[in-house]
Amino acid sequence: MKEQITRKIFNGLIYIHILHHGKVEPFYGSWMIEELKEHGYSVSPGTLYPILKSMVEEELIEKEDINVNGRIRKYYKTTNKGDKLLQELKNNLKEIFNDMSMK
Ligand SMILES: [Zn+2]
Repeated sequence: MKEQITRKIFNGLIYIHILHHGKVEPFYGSWMIEELKEHGYSVSPGTLYPILKSMVEEELIEKEDINVNGRIRKYYKTTNKGDKLLQELKNNLKEIFNDMSMK
């Protein structure tokens, strides 16, 4: 198991990822797991779904049931509140990157 702080940092990056992709287009859970894998994060459903649930509770993303070929799938998309947070986070990240490239 990863150390506590390392895990917190990576979780933060996962949140940013979710906000970003949910803004581009609605996604479903297993798609996000694959997407994160491509970025080098191995996230199990047991980790992802509680994150999605807490983000829905905080109204950063919203859940929608969509019928895909007769099968109901839960899609998630970023809300206006989530989008505002995403913009703030992006600005913070830009500042951090500027800071680091000065060194
Ligand atoms: Zn991505």
